[in-house]
Amino acid sequence: MAENIKVAVRVRPFDDREMSHNSKMVIQMKGNQTTITSTSGKKNSFAFDYSYWSHDGYRVTPDGYYEPESPVYADQKRVFEDLGRGMLNNAWKGFNCSLFAYGQTGSGKSYSIIGYGPNKGIVPITCEQLFAGIEDKRAGAAKDDEWQVSVSMIEIYNEKVRDLLVTTKTRNKESLKIRQHQTKGFYVEGLSSSPVSSYAQIEAKIAEGSKNRSVAATNMNATSSRAHTIVAINFVQKNSNESGQKMTKSSLMNLVDLAGSERVGLTGAEGERMKEGAAINLSLSTLGNCISALADQAAGNTRVKVPFRDSVLTKLLQNALGGNSKTVMIAALSPADINYEETLSTLRFADRAKSIKTKAVVNESPTDKLIRELREENARLLKLLKSGGVPITGDDSNSESKEEKERELNELIKKNAEEMEAMERTWAERLAQAQADANKQIKDQEEQRERKKNVPHLWNLNADAALSGLIVHFCDPGSCTPRHAVLRNTKGKVTVTPVENAKVYINGKAVAMETELHHNDRVLFGNNHLYVFHHPVDYAKMVKSAGKGDNKNADKLAPPNFEDAQAELAANSGIMGLLGDSKGGGNDDLMKLKDDLVKLFPEVQEANAMAQEMQRPVKFELLLMSAQGRGLREGEGQTEVYIRLINLENNTEFLWPKDKFLDRKFLMRDVYNSFMDGEADWKPPEHEDPFLEPADTPVLIGTSLIYLESLAHLIEISQAFGVTNYKGDDQGKLEIEILPCDEEWNELTNSFAEPESLIANPLKFKIKVLTGKGLPKRFAALFCRYKYYLDDDYTTTEEVPGGSDPQFNFEKTYTVATVTQQFMNYLQNSYIIREGLDSTDGEGGSGGTRKLLAELDTVTKEKERAELKVKQLQSLLNEARKKGDEKIDVDALDNTLSATLNGGDQKKPPEDKAGAGSKAPAANAGGSSAVIQQKREDVMSKTVSKACVLQ
Ligand code: ADP
Ligand code: MG
Repeated sequence: MAENIKVAVRVRPFDDREMSHNSKMVIQMKGNQTTITSTSGKKNSFAFDYSYWSHDGYRVTPDGYYEPESPVYADQKRVFEDLGRGMLNNAWKGFNCSLFAYGQTGSGKSYSIIGYGPNKGIVPITCEQLFAGIEDKRAGAAKDDEWQVSVSMIEIYNEKVRDLLVTTKTRNKESLKIRQHQTKGFYVEGLSSSPVSSYAQIEAKIAEGSKNRSVAATNMNATSSRAHTIVAINFVQKNSNESGQKMTKSSLMNLVDLAGSERVGLTGAEGERMKEGAAINLSLSTLGNCISALADQAAGNTRVKVPFRDSVLTKLLQNALGGNSKTVMIAALSPADINYEETLSTLRFADRAKSIKTKAVVNESPTDKLIRELREENARLLKLLKSGGVPITGDDSNSESKEEKERELNELIKKNAEEMEAMERTWAERLAQAQADANKQIKDQEEQRERKKNVPHLWNLNADAALSGLIVHFCDPGSCTPRHAVLRNTKGKVTVTPVENAKVYINGKAVAMETELHHNDRVLFGNNHLYVFHHPVDYAKMVKSAGKGDNKNADKLAPPNFEDAQAELAANSGIMGLLGDSKGGGNDDLMKLKDDLVKLFPEVQEANAMAQEMQRPVKFELLLMSAQGRGLREGEGQTEVYIRLINLENNTEFLWPKDKFLDRKFLMRDVYNSFMDGEADWKPPEHEDPFLEPADTPVLIGTSLIYLESLAHLIEISQAFGVTNYKGDDQGKLEIEILPCDEEWNELTNSFAEPESLIANPLKFKIKVLTGKGLPKRFAALFCRYKYYLDDDYTTTEEVPGGSDPQFNFEKTYTVATVTQQFMNYLQNSYIIREGLDSTDGEGGSGGTRKLLAELDTVTKEKERAELKVKQLQSLLNEARKKGDEKIDVDALDNTLSATLNGGDQKKPPEDKAGAGSKAPAANAGGSSAVIQQKREDVMSKTVSKACVLQ
């Protein structure tokens, strides 16, 4: 029977950072309703099967368990009882089950799925209960009844599948292939599956898998959150039915901790991001696409195709999403206002997911039949292999060689044979083999736990809390030399001494000499190997003194967290100096900038380290880019952290927004992994090289702001506008004309009209980009671009040869059939936000040369000021009319108006002032030439003063 996916939402407590930022709560829950409120008060409500309030109303027990203090609080046990228990029951019945955790990094996915320490998540409790159930059954079971549990664990990272339970040197190099089975669907070829016979064994396996992730992720910091982790538990029950027939019932449980969902919405959205975005989150964005398509199907649109095949994750989860599985999704929510957008998008995702239906069936068959089927299939495969191997299973097999296909067939035959063997051989035999291994693993892990209580050691600190503490270096008496330093333990006093040239930082500060370590010291080796020192004796002393009421050390007891460790590194690096003194104070924007700097600092360090190691001639630097630098005005955008890429070979520079840098870094990591694995072809072709920008990528030299309000008054704009770069430095000038025209395209030069009089009439005008003046000379070719009105794309001038005074001679005519209020608003009030400073493709290769890209933004002033100005003009006019004056005192007018301008140079308009506005198509009621002239001057001088704001 088709059944909807069950969807739960869960909101976590504020984390330390959010607490210290005084974050505001955006989530409310009432019954099955979850409401999210934006800072501006906009509310969105959603209903889900389960809503878990885990934000507050809890207390922490002495052993660290978060238990409810108020009945609203949902603890781990409650979540298990609702979601895990049901899954377990279904597994016993022989249904496949799937559990997903979706949400941005840090929202609590791993907490719900795996859990932390005493706060065990759904997976451990489910496993525990599964084995408890098996024990119960076993007590009263028939002799050949059997319960078999085996576990696999994989990671999908950048579309590559890694087996987390196999630790060999080659693991990183070879990702596993996805294959498709005729009836069973997609599977991972050659994936290990470890038989387990107790909860301790399964726990040891999962710990091993997590450790493998952690080792691989040591250098990855935030990028590790881009991996999906799947724990698959295969549960097989064999017993005889009433008529004595041997039956096999099986259930596959897929427990999926998805990659952080942040920025999925953005990937693949625009131009250049495609390449990067797609590679980074293909699996997650495809999951989103599949869910949307399935939701459409559920809504009755049966023609929609679901793109399961588009990514590795969705291939493997095809059953979980649309087929034979009972499926549960947990959407993890951050409560903080800064995550509002992501949280809303998570809620929307969950909302779509809840309409999806799956059709689970009991997987139960007579054992004989299963064996017979496998045997028959293998016979058929063998025949196929002998006859030359026609592909029957390969997913993208048409691109594969004959050998590849043969290998695949052999693999399948082997897999079937194993399965047959597993059915025929007693489980005890199989287990015995695995047992020795598993027991050793458990013993090792127990030993390590014991040693940690007595021996000083370093434990790793990762951006992902789930990966912290999994790598441990013991400092046994004597000395040892890891890659970067010598650790010496003399009678319990532990010191670290950097080896030649290696960088070692303690608590954020670089050390050059032998230095003693204290409990909870943060130690950074090289660029990314971040550890915390644990000294059991000192720790015990602190606990004791804290117990005696000495609170001096109480806060030193808590282990340091990753964010704080990064913050102190960043603080000591001087990078915070970027923020300057002028911006002191604690507003939210500054907080966000600081946060970004702290987060990006290690990423930039790492990118530099990778570049250095691979001898790539590039360097990355952090910088702050003001809103003005990006072509926005103050108040219309925030200062943001950008990354400067410096190509040391040809001394060119590019500025990347942080998202682009992070995407690129993800790809750099990939290149680096290939490099480290010693792959011959590690170096990517130039156009795919994440360390490079193509030589003909346009470089943004600067922007000019051109206010169109003059046009709303039919006043021509003809002026050399300053071009300023992101730092606000003058880069030269650009002559621009925007000329209102009459019916025959004659340019109107001395006209004036009230904007209202233009509405409902046609409007014609020209935009001209004439010549540059004093622009930088070092570019081979130059062009300008701008965005007009509702256009999505830039209008771009022809490329002209470089030089300081390029002649663009660009002209474009615009006809507005009827001026609408909306268009008038555009001219007067609206604001066009330009994005992607250097994201355009260089049109027409200029043979590896670089181009100047000067960009024009059409910008108008904000509404209030426009209205104020019009009001003032109006009152002056009225006054003049009342008095019957033919003329208005120009000085008085000037004074009144300049008081409303925001300072700046009030240059006189450059145009000749002769003539009346007689050519204006819409005659002005105010009539007199002096008045008109004054009004023209007013609008023009204001425009000039505004255009000067940035210079
Ligand atoms: P994700 O896996 O989504 O990146 P985590 O599960 O690692 O996020 O959670 C991030 C941090 O928040 C962890 O330190 C975790 O302990 C904490 N956390 C998450 N959910 C809860 C919760 N319900 N109660 C208490 N702490 C939580
Ligand atoms: Mg996680």
